[in-house]
Amino acid sequence: MRSNVPEYFGSMVFNDAVMREKLPKDIYKSLAKTIETGKDLDIAVANVVAIAMKDWAIEKGATHYTHWFQPMTGRTAEKHDSFISPQNDGRVIMEFSGKELIKGESDASSFPSGGLRATFEARGYTAWDPTSYAFVKDGVLCIPTAFCSYGGEALDKKTPLLRSMQCLNEQALRILKLFGNTEVKHVTTTVGAEQEYFLIDKDLYDKRFDLKLCKRTLFGAMPPKGMDLDDHYFGAIKPRISAFMKDLNEELWKLGILAKTEHNEASPAQHELAPIFTTANIATDHNQITMEIMRNVARRHGLVCLLHEKPFAGVNGSGKHNNWSMTTDTGVNLLEPGKSPHENAQFLLFLTAMIKAVDEYQDLMRMCVAGAGNDHRLGGNEAPPAIISMFVGDDLNAILNCIVSGKNYAGNPNEKMEIGVHVLPTFPKDSTDRNRTSPFAFTGNKFEFRSVGSSQSIAGSSIILNTIMAEELRGFADELEGADDFNRDLNALIKRTITEHNRILFNGDGYSLEWEKEAKNRGLLNLKTTVDALPYFINEKNIELFTKHKIFTETEMHSRYEILMDTYNKVVTIEARTMVDIAQKQIIPAVNRYLNELLCALSYRASLKLECSFGAEKHLVEKLSDLLDKTQEAAIKLDELSLNTSFEDALLRGRYNVSNILPAMETLRSLCDEMETLTAKDIWPFPQYEDMLFGI
Ligand code: ADP
Ligand code: MG
Repeated sequence: MRSNVPEYFGSMVFNDAVMREKLPKDIYKSLAKTIETGKDLDIAVANVVAIAMKDWAIEKGATHYTHWFQPMTGRTAEKHDSFISPQNDGRVIMEFSGKELIKGESDASSFPSGGLRATFEARGYTAWDPTSYAFVKDGVLCIPTAFCSYGGEALDKKTPLLRSMQCLNEQALRILKLFGNTEVKHVTTTVGAEQEYFLIDKDLYDKRFDLKLCKRTLFGAMPPKGMDLDDHYFGAIKPRISAFMKDLNEELWKLGILAKTEHNEASPAQHELAPIFTTANIATDHNQITMEIMRNVARRHGLVCLLHEKPFAGVNGSGKHNNWSMTTDTGVNLLEPGKSPHENAQFLLFLTAMIKAVDEYQDLMRMCVAGAGNDHRLGGNEAPPAIISMFVGDDLNAILNCIVSGKNYAGNPNEKMEIGVHVLPTFPKDSTDRNRTSPFAFTGNKFEFRSVGSSQSIAGSSIILNTIMAEELRGFADELEGADDFNRDLNALIKRTITEHNRILFNGDGYSLEWEKEAKNRGLLNLKTTVDALPYFINEKNIELFTKHKIFTETEMHSRYEILMDTYNKVVTIEARTMVDIAQKQIIPAVNRYLNELLCALSYRASLKLECSFGAEKHLVEKLSDLLDKTQEAAIKLDELSLNTSFEDALLRGRYNVSNILPAMETLRSLCDEMETLTAKDIWPFPQYEDMLFGI
């Protein structure tokens, strides 16, 4: 890793400094205005920007450009076009126009559109998002874009994210105005995405079809040592991993990505990378690039980076904490309690809005982190539970209780806690950060949404947080804008809202069984699987929410629901078929071979007329024969079940997958895992957990 970081940081990014340097003053100014306000860019201006961008990109070694976008696959997509333009004399020059910068045509037909394709034209277009800088990656100028159908329906993750940021901005400004805050022109959502991942040796990976096809192990007995000693978390980083991290940092820094913190995670072979937070749409773009670069850099080091939520059963899975807040263009974090009664009151209103939002839209919070991979994590005993609740820390909780009960706050025993009059006591950060079991925690000056899965785009969870917050702020602003005594009505609103919604607050152990019971008593949702959660997306309440704020049209919502359910079903089916394949072609033959070996040894030793009973060997042979029969049966059953396609819709198929396929997979796995513990290591047909988890 080169140490002159400030010199090469952002060297592959067409950022503000480059624009300032390369663009004529007036052009720079109108571009800056577009970036700030989101207004359309004049084509004449775009032409000048395009030329400067192309010249700069060529200096950085680019020959092609691409409209880089984020289709509903959750990955990123790019189609490269070269800058070449033929001349009359048989030569070419390098050209790039404003039109090509602003808008691209793309064949949308092979991306998931959830039925939008049937109703609308197959072609889609990409539109430049000037709020996220262009960059050069692998000799290609990448222009971040939104991706829509010709009918204008969003086919990607960026479009609704930008819409939701705009919507939150509008509603937050209304609230700020109520507090007399008129100099703020813009409120942006800020996001920091902590990314967890596994690294394993590529040679081992190549020998495991389950990892290659499904990105997670479908078989594998736990080694004698798992996470028992807790010795990996924050442990010294091994040289090979350290070399990977250094390389990764350099690549990310060149692309202007604020990679900041790296450490070993709880599970062996698991690590984490956290960037410094930034605007939600840039953070999303950056996280998508980060995941891509992690995979690529790992390969260069003979490693494979696993971003799946649960690559190995029995040890911690991987999440992606979405740290979320709102910041004004004057640099104020709206979730910072502040030091004056006035700032405190404003903070308490935003906090109250979030409490109400999480309670009323638990279904959306759960739904936006749903997915076949994350289902293995949520509700496992390490990740946040499938029940959505909110943690605010003991100190803040005590204050909220005083507000509700009207009792005096212990820190201020002589007076009632009056919002807007009294200063909130300061709460140390660690008092808000202690409970790691909560899916959604207030951590001092931001919320940390921990249910998000490691492979998921953070666009999904950010869209939900932005929208539900905007909706509650809208309601509050509607109510308070008409107030004749602002302070009195504000106090009443906060007290009433917390009283109505404090069932969502939970400061205890989210992994415990008691919580599951308690949550049920409180009437909280417990949506255990993706199939349970997804239908909530398109219920009446949520359609009204999204259409009212113009985040999604009803058609877009149905299309997204279809895509998500369809993807879930496909993943489960592919996993089931992969299991059958591996069991039949690899595991059963290998165990048969081992049995043969054992039987040969037994009969040879019997032929020598040795004096012993061979009890242990006989027992092993019997046990393995029995398991082998059962495995054969379980594989055939799973195969048959997975061939059933008689479903009227994706939801019914999803339910069938949950109630029939998943249990059959579980049965087959446990039989095979048991055989694995009884079979000689050199005969087992692929690398085992201990090799992969402790191999580096
Ligand atoms: P942890 O204790 O979870 O490791 P940190 O305080 O180190 O938490 O922060 C985790 C992430 O939260 C980092 O990516 C950080 O940049 C991000 N973060 C900090 N402040 C904000 C904010 N105001 N808005 C969004 N993200 C933030
Ligand atoms: Mg965190």
